[in-house]
Amino acid sequence: MTRWYRWILLAVWFVAAPALAGSVSNVRIWPAPDHTRLVFDLSSPAEHKVFALSSPDRLVIDLSGAELNTDMGNIKLDDSPIRRIRSAKRNQNDLRVVLDLKQSVKPKSFVLKPNDQYGHRLVIDLYGGTVSKTSEVTKSVEENSQRRDILVVVDPGHGGDDPGALGPRGVREKDVVLAISRELQAMLNQKKGYNSRLTRKGDYFIPLRQRTNLAREYNADLMVSVHADAFKSPQASGASVYALSKRGATSETARWLATKENMSDLIGGVGSVSLDDKDDVLAGVLLDLSMTASLKSSLSVGDHVLRSMGRISKLHKKRVEQAGFVVLKSPDIPSILVETGFISNPVESGRLRTQKYQRKMAQAIYKGLQGYFDESPPPGTYVAWSKLQNRMAQGATYKIERGDTLSEIAARNRVSLNDLMQHNGLKNEQLRIGQVLKIPAS
Ligand SMILES: [Zn+2]
Repeated sequence: MTRWYRWILLAVWFVAAPALAGSVSNVRIWPAPDHTRLVFDLSSPAEHKVFALSSPDRLVIDLSGAELNTDMGNIKLDDSPIRRIRSAKRNQNDLRVVLDLKQSVKPKSFVLKPNDQYGHRLVIDLYGGTVSKTSEVTKSVEENSQRRDILVVVDPGHGGDDPGALGPRGVREKDVVLAISRELQAMLNQKKGYNSRLTRKGDYFIPLRQRTNLAREYNADLMVSVHADAFKSPQASGASVYALSKRGATSETARWLATKENMSDLIGGVGSVSLDDKDDVLAGVLLDLSMTASLKSSLSVGDHVLRSMGRISKLHKKRVEQAGFVVLKSPDIPSILVETGFISNPVESGRLRTQKYQRKMAQAIYKGLQGYFDESPPPGTYVAWSKLQNRMAQGATYKIERGDTLSEIAARNRVSLNDLMQHNGLKNEQLRIGQVLKIPAS
């Protein structure tokens, strides 16, 4: 099907979703790089229809049995494909909202049931018309060389309609973790041999699955999801690191947080959410194997990060915890979830909101990641290559066996006899079995 044909079909595209009546008390907008989300807060569920009209491009949203109880005039439309929002009573009962568009969009709509933070919501996602300000700056990759950058995908948790945990004095997890993630990304990008990308660059929501999909699309060597959560009791404090567990959580906190983080899709909004993991059904032996391998790496990198964070923060748990976080479920990419502290703890929350501490925390995570990659760099990367160069510069060693002669060892390693003697501080050619010689780089 050609693109044009699809747009024509779109003009007659329409959707109806089951629901009932009430008032629209608020409208929010969340521009994201690939779509713009409009959220209508409803006092009760309302039946809706969405359809597109062309020349000029418009999107019509009809809500039956609804009335408007908010001013849509102060909705910020910058960075969105919407030029203007109008509304009118269609008849005594029904409300019509018209979006005048800058360009045609592909709409997707769904309703969300009430949760802790919101009541009934109608969500309209507009695809294809987003005006993106940010252009991706990627470091030049040395072509024809086997020295690619290590790619770390940093995932700031929550966003948009999902604020994450809420702390005292209006501190929101989604803001804190975005700030820390940006610092971390900048540090990684500055380091030779590293490159970093964010899953979320602003205040909008990305479904959990899409976060792992982005990491795969970017060919990430590692995914780091950054959070700062709340716990039932305000006393809970300290940083922690989580890796995926296929069976059971290692602690009650881990289980509790995993449930909470996985709720994100219900709060931030994904059409129909099933929390059970369909991949588990499809998982075969192969998936199991790669999962085990990446889980081992996840635990190892998690350990480095945890120890590094331990230098600047109290630790909630002294070892990497494991739980069934959806955002960690990439079978092939090592992934960790970093809890930078408890936003529900007044002291930690006060610290986490300052730029100074956010930077300090990013630095600690950065050091941990670097420690891990220095130890086990992915093959083919600049970091692996420079590690090898270092080792070669330091020179190899050789343990003397019966019958060895210095001149023969020198010839075998393509160094001069003189260099070999000097390098080892030898006055004569006498050797003893078991003696270790340093071989200079030839
Ligand atoms: Zn979180």
